[in-house]
Amino acid sequence: MTASKIAYVIDFDGTVTEVDITSTMARHFGKEHYIKCSAAYKRGEFGMKEWLARMSAFLPPDPAELMEFARLRAALRPGAKEFFQYARSGERPVYIASDGFGLYIEPILEMHGCREYVAGIFCNRTLPGNGRLETITPHAHESCPVCGNCKAAHVIGLQEEGYRVIYVGDGMNDRFGAAHADAVFARDRLAEICSAAGIPFQRWDDFFDLIETNAPVKNNRNRKFCNPAGEGFYKNSPL
Ligand SMILES: [Mg+2]
Repeated sequence: MTASKIAYVIDFDGTVTEVDITSTMARHFGKEHYIKCSAAYKRGEFGMKEWLARMSAFLPPDPAELMEFARLRAALRPGAKEFFQYARSGERPVYIASDGFGLYIEPILEMHGCREYVAGIFCNRTLPGNGRLETITPHAHESCPVCGNCKAAHVIGLQEEGYRVIYVGDGMNDRFGAAHADAVFARDRLAEICSAAGIPFQRWDDFFDLIETNAPVKNNRNRKFCNPAGEGFYKNSPL
């Protein structure tokens, strides 16, 4: 990629952090409900929006308890801070896009001295309500039933501002944003999905790989899983 105006859209759980904190919380507090709910999600019976609604019901009502749980699992993937500094020095804004519980992202970035490097955080809000915690999804598509946070819309929004967007992620629901991006760094489940769908991507392990690969392979495939400007999720989309 040679365009001077480049932005990154980066997943948080299992990408910026080594641990997927949302999944770990849901497993810890939801126990057998987590296993059933996540199996149904992986079978494609529903998307993250429904997963979040179901699993939020099992969280403790006190956000401070959840924050302490997150704080103990908040290690960043190696090279994260160096990458944020590298992106800033190259005038490449970094945006976090997360479809998790949301409440711990900004505190964890602050804890590691990284918040100042992030241009924006698109995430869900997990808040007290009705005597328990609820997860609000302010970035959801108005009718698409799949994602809580429409990562594809964030990618497209930055492209409409003139950026070429590099997407960085690890998980299943990163496919929606990744497919629309101009280049993709993928690991774990996202790498499997990109391979299966024929979406060109750069495999990555830690953030030093992102610094070394200044210009990742271009995503030249028109293979999308959704249309944020239209109906959202393509019911007959691959995978
Ligand atoms: Mg992830």
